[in-house]
Amino acid sequence: MIVLSGGTGTPKLLAGLRRLMPDEEITVIVNTAEDIMVSGNLVSPDVDTILYLFSGQLDDTRWWGVRNDTFHTHLALKKTGLGERLMIGDIDRATHILRSEMMRSGAGLTEVTLRLSSMLGVKARVLPMCDEKVDTMINTPQGIMHFQDFWVGRRGEPDVVDVIINGIEKAKPTKEVLEAIKSEENVLIGPSNPITSIGPILALREMRKILAGKKVIAISPIIGSSPVSGPAGKLMEACGFPVSSKGVAQCYGDILDIMVIDRTDTADEKVFPVKTVRYDTMMTSIKKSEALSGYILDLMKDF
Ligand code: GDP
Repeated sequence: MIVLSGGTGTPKLLAGLRRLMPDEEITVIVNTAEDIMVSGNLVSPDVDTILYLFSGQLDDTRWWGVRNDTFHTHLALKKTGLGERLMIGDIDRATHILRSEMMRSGAGLTEVTLRLSSMLGVKARVLPMCDEKVDTMINTPQGIMHFQDFWVGRRGEPDVVDVIINGIEKAKPTKEVLEAIKSEENVLIGPSNPITSIGPILALREMRKILAGKKVIAISPIIGSSPVSGPAGKLMEACGFPVSSKGVAQCYGDILDIMVIDRTDTADEKVFPVKTVRYDTMMTSIKKSEALSGYILDLMKDF
């Protein structure tokens, strides 16, 4: 099973999916456009969340970082007045140090992620979407800022004029990503932010062309006219899409075959450019994540 993922909604789904199939059979292609240097180390927030999920250490109340982590280094830095752009836990920081050390010795992000996976005992195949550096920048009336500075630093408060993905024109899916997609008939786009999480993956060179030959199912992260969490609504609006599951389907365009929308969503299925199906997509418990995953697996069987 191939799943395209960001760092909150889709990991919730994966937590349920891995109760229904072995981790070894799951490949996650992960957004890296929110990666950022913090105190000299590369943080890859979405990749880290997936690694921690599959190694059983994820703090699944926040959907980032390691459960019960401490923040001694972060707090000590704050005391000195230096501060950090993100709150980094001590164990989490060890992952970032390891990643950055390996990259300083010349390894690429994919190679490093596969090595980290093996060190952490992750059996799923976790693949960064690309090895090139790509940065999601948010254009606001206060200036252009990195996504993390917009979302974490300024709590998503500035108005959004536009979203720019720096470096995307030179970025291509890695050979590992291409091989993984080639080997499967179906691709699942999890309920993730269509602009900042799935958007960069789909914008990789040739990616849409490759996915056009696959059966693609997506789960909408928008229910009715608002996202379940996060800035997806504001960002979709800035990019000219309606904030609705139909708007999400429009973001994905003609690569999409089936859109899973929430059963409480009153959108008329006739307005969708693709086939829609309905299910309870609010993953407020692991049982609900598992039920939604089971529904997706059945959908794929009937494709
Ligand atoms: P990020 O990398 O932290 O931005 O996380 P993602 O892009 O993976 O996920 C954020 C999106 O997941 C948001 O747009 C939410 O609306 C959506 N989301 C979070 N939880 C749920 C849920 O339980 N159900 C659905 N349908 N969407 C969800």
